[in-house]
Amino acid sequence: MNMNIDLNNDTIAALATSPSEGAVAIIRVSGKEAFHISDKIFRGKIKLSEAKPFTIHYGDIYNDEKKVDDVLVSIFKSPNSYTGEDVVEINSHGSFFIIKSILELLNDLGVRNAEPGEFTRRAFLNGKIDLVQAEAVADLISARTEVSMRGARNQLDGLLSAKVKYLRESLLNSSSLLELELDFSEEDVEFISSVAVKKKIDEVVNEIDQLLSSYSFGKVVREGVNVALVGIPNVGKSSLLNYILKESRAIVSEIPGTTRDIIREEVSIDGVLFRITDTAGIRLTEDTIEKEGVLRSREAVKNSDIVIFVNDIFSGVSEELFGELKNIVSRETIITVMNKTDLDTSYKRDGVLNISAKDGTGIPLLFAIMKEIVFGGKVFSEKSALVTNSRHVSSLKKAKEFLLMANNSIDAGMTGEFIAVDLRNAESALGEIIGEVTSDDILNNIFSKFCIGK
Ligand code: GDP
Repeated sequence: MNMNIDLNNDTIAALATSPSEGAVAIIRVSGKEAFHISDKIFRGKIKLSEAKPFTIHYGDIYNDEKKVDDVLVSIFKSPNSYTGEDVVEINSHGSFFIIKSILELLNDLGVRNAEPGEFTRRAFLNGKIDLVQAEAVADLISARTEVSMRGARNQLDGLLSAKVKYLRESLLNSSSLLELELDFSEEDVEFISSVAVKKKIDEVVNEIDQLLSSYSFGKVVREGVNVALVGIPNVGKSSLLNYILKESRAIVSEIPGTTRDIIREEVSIDGVLFRITDTAGIRLTEDTIEKEGVLRSREAVKNSDIVIFVNDIFSGVSEELFGELKNIVSRETIITVMNKTDLDTSYKRDGVLNISAKDGTGIPLLFAIMKEIVFGGKVFSEKSALVTNSRHVSSLKKAKEFLLMANNSIDAGMTGEFIAVDLRNAESALGEIIGEVTSDDILNNIFSKFCIGK
């Protein structure tokens, strides 16, 4: 982001709807001059600057005396808008040319084109939402399955924010009392006992641990599950992938990341995003001729949350490949399947799931095992705070470290001064999550990942 621009005071505009041809396009204008400038290009029954908030007005956009389009304009007055500023939303016809013309007219009148995520950044800076919620907006927009959508919604509704605020306030209470004591240090008064401080710290550490433990689940909710199909050639890996695609009937991406050796598809199974990679029979061991494919297959396996180890009744379980797999991923994440059991229903071996990529035998059970591995029996709850973001994880870990330091200081009989500093640091780390303590770097990093117009 260009820091020379007056971040909070200029008026910005961008297309808020998808940049493709459509029935309607929405151009959002936000800032002090939003009404005044829009009035210069809008002709309707009344002036927009005199319109009541939350009203919609029909009229025309003019470029001098040339009519550009007939539009509907919505009015939001500060502070009751998405950004907290005066906002005008121009609903025009969804043509590239019209959108471009309106944005150019606004630019000519001094409106700057918004940076990615700038509307949401302003919403955050104006206190409409906190940082966790701002991040949830981006997650909600990019959510491609039911479960990721609900995870983002949970965060946008403020469950994690409320929890973090609560933890921060409980620490604030203790650190304030400790600091008060310092002011009265001559008089030897005690406002809070070290036993009480320790108890509070333990409570907060406990809650932080719970939040941290929700991350493995939260990560799946937000990012989905990586699955690798591994097996020697011709056991039926691509047939299995095709069957899964057909069965889940919800191909998430139409453009598979196909390379020479690797085929990747995204599917939604019961609302959970599974990113399935077919390693196409490439061996996992070093081999100079196939090196590139070998490396890519190993990478796919290493990055996977689940490996489906595919075998068929002709070759039996490939012990050699199984041995290699166990060196790359943990045993619990490997599902060993025996394919083509439609041809021989008598096959039986402990720990091996019989399937058929031809008639679908065993596939529902395979899905159930996949879900069990990633969720371990946990179900998505709308009511409890969930950590889905690695930025939140690192701040929580930082807060926990300071709290453990504070505990050590108490045990070592240090004075309240030292303990209060550790508690303040822990509060700051928690504050980073919701954005009460933040830096331009953090904000730039978060908002640059947004799309333009949000
Ligand atoms: P890959 O090399 O592991 O990807 O194997 P393919 O998916 O290309 O399958 C190899 C051959 O096995 C093809 O001729 C498939 O039609 C056949 N095949 C795959 N799965 C099954 C199955 O479950 N039952 C039967 N009868 N044939 C299968």
